[in-house]
Amino acid sequence: MAVTDSILNRLLDGTSIKIPSLPVVGLRIVEACQKEDFCLNELVQIISTDPNLTVKTIRLVNSPLYSLIAPIKSIDKAVGLLGVHAIKNIALSFIIIDDMNTDTYVGFDNKYFWKRSVTSAVAAEIISQKLKLNLSGAFVTALLMDIGVMAMHICKPESFKEVLQKKKDSEKTQIELEQEIFGYDHQEVGMELLKEWGLPEEIYMPIAFQHNLKDCPPKYPALASALKVADLTSAILNSDLSAKRLCELTAILDRKHQLNEETINSYMEEVAEKTISTLATFELSAGEMKPYSEILQEANEELAKVGSSYIHMVQKMKQTNEEAENLTAELMESNTEYKKLAYRDSLTGLYNHRFFHEMIEKEMSRAERYLAKFTLILLDIDNLKEINDTRGHKYGDMVISEFGKYIQQSIRQSDMGARIGGDEFAILLPNMHNNNAGTFAEKLRTGVLSLGVEHKDGSIKFTISVGVGIYTPADGIKTKGEFIDEIDKALYNSKTHGRNRVSKS
Ligand code: GH3
Ligand code: MG
Repeated sequence: MAVTDSILNRLLDGTSIKIPSLPVVGLRIVEACQKEDFCLNELVQIISTDPNLTVKTIRLVNSPLYSLIAPIKSIDKAVGLLGVHAIKNIALSFIIIDDMNTDTYVGFDNKYFWKRSVTSAVAAEIISQKLKLNLSGAFVTALLMDIGVMAMHICKPESFKEVLQKKKDSEKTQIELEQEIFGYDHQEVGMELLKEWGLPEEIYMPIAFQHNLKDCPPKYPALASALKVADLTSAILNSDLSAKRLCELTAILDRKHQLNEETINSYMEEVAEKTISTLATFELSAGEMKPYSEILQEANEELAKVGSSYIHMVQKMKQTNEEAENLTAELMESNTEYKKLAYRDSLTGLYNHRFFHEMIEKEMSRAERYLAKFTLILLDIDNLKEINDTRGHKYGDMVISEFGKYIQQSIRQSDMGARIGGDEFAILLPNMHNNNAGTFAEKLRTGVLSLGVEHKDGSIKFTISVGVGIYTPADGIKTKGEFIDEIDKALYNSKTHGRNRVSKS
């Protein structure tokens, strides 16, 4: 059976709506930044060819959000000051908003959506600056974190209305209600959409885990937790008052990030103020935005009606958070291995078998929908058993670990390396679909020849056998099993023809 039941496919099923793809200039930026031999000038050049994008990017960099001492006048100066990742992310933000901020989606309040998203983006940036988290992706990631909501809303408006309706008189969260009504939620939709646009893992992974920090892969919890803070901040500044939300945010900032009341107040005021100037840079209207002092006063009035106070409520939430955090810490301690097992292989740090299978299904489904192609490489260490037998299992482990590190260093951000068996590895390359695949595999094979594991009797050298295949749906749809089997046969061919070689399927 063909793998066609991705979440995006399910969402698009039965509707004629087309979710926009990333505009060409956005794709060029993403691709340029993922290239091995990427140079700053290339990014500067791509942005500079679009005068509108250049002006807006420079305007935002000079806006109060970045508090520069002296204004900058050119993109290359902006890159020099804020770094290539920050500028890439700012440019992508403009491109995406310009493209998606249209009134063509009937019944969807586009203005409110982007105002809410820009507030989140500003909040994430400010919290990252305040806590010195150095998260260059904070702005764009927060800006896009609810893109799944937009997609669900425009593709299945009736079902989405039902979610919002039920949310009003239910204790359940929006995510839970989406799962109940759609069978999937906006984080999952958002993750697939952003992946489909070719955006890097650094952007879609924290989004996918912002409400589920305890399962978040080890690289992303700082950004995922900044997203949660940004989301609450934006909800407080843009929605009808919920004192509970305000207390929850204060409790998190106080307990988790040790910000005192004064700093929290100045944070909220700063977000409100800088959101207004940032919205102007995006040519979006700020409309009404209540000052934070007024929000605080209203929260106290709301709580007084139920016989509580802001201070008392924050105190209570801090306690609840503390209990929850203690529980999480205990669980995490006893389950460290489980946590790693969920996505990562503990010996190499690469993704594991389970995650590899999830990702390849998604990649196949994406390729089928767009008649696109991608490459899969399977690699197996030669004669590992012999190394185990002659040098000891510990050295066999070191060879596996050394090879895992080498894979991680050899692939790009958009690729995925996994250990899928004892000494078997896989590399998924979504953007490689021509002769380069064979050349890349050959380069990997020869690169291994210069690796080695130190041993008292001299360096332990090893070789690998490789199978390469390109999935080409235009030549016929295959199942995951069929596709992997073909490449496995190529790998077997390399083994039977003397090992230390590459074969194509
Ligand atoms: P081939 O060249 O045909 O690949 O031979 P091989 O000796 O590498 O054997 P094969 O790939 O068929 O089987 C994998 C071997 O790798 C079996 C086992 O001895 C070893 N192995 C599997 N997992 C581990 C591990 O986690 N640590 C160590 N040290 N060895 C492992
Ligand atoms: Mg082997």
